[in-house]
Amino acid sequence: MRLIDADWVLGHLKPYEPSDEEWGVTGGTALRLIHNAVDNAPTVDAVPVVHGRWVTHYLSGTTVAEGYVSTCCDMWNNRKSDYCPPLRAKMDGGNENV
Ligand SMILES: [Zn+2]
Repeated sequence: MRLIDADWVLGHLKPYEPSDEEWGVTGGTALRLIHNAVDNAPTVDAVPVVHGRWVTHYLSGTTVAEGYVSTCCDMWNNRKSDYCPPLRAKMDGGNENV
């Protein structure tokens, strides 16, 4: 995944006013302009947010007697914290596959 600066892309797609004399572009030209802007957009330093949730068993299926296991990295924790300690994953139940 390449995270790009959307503001930069939008800035490079102007002018976009239909009344502009430059507006007479075809759909194909418009797509090329968009692809060109996205391809050339600077990347941003960011890390995708990892989501997980607390369950009472490991991925292997083994149930824990106490505490909880994170779905993101299969690590045990004594309580349901808002973030998984190893990954700092947000424990809100999103991204079921992590
Ligand atoms: Zn985790």
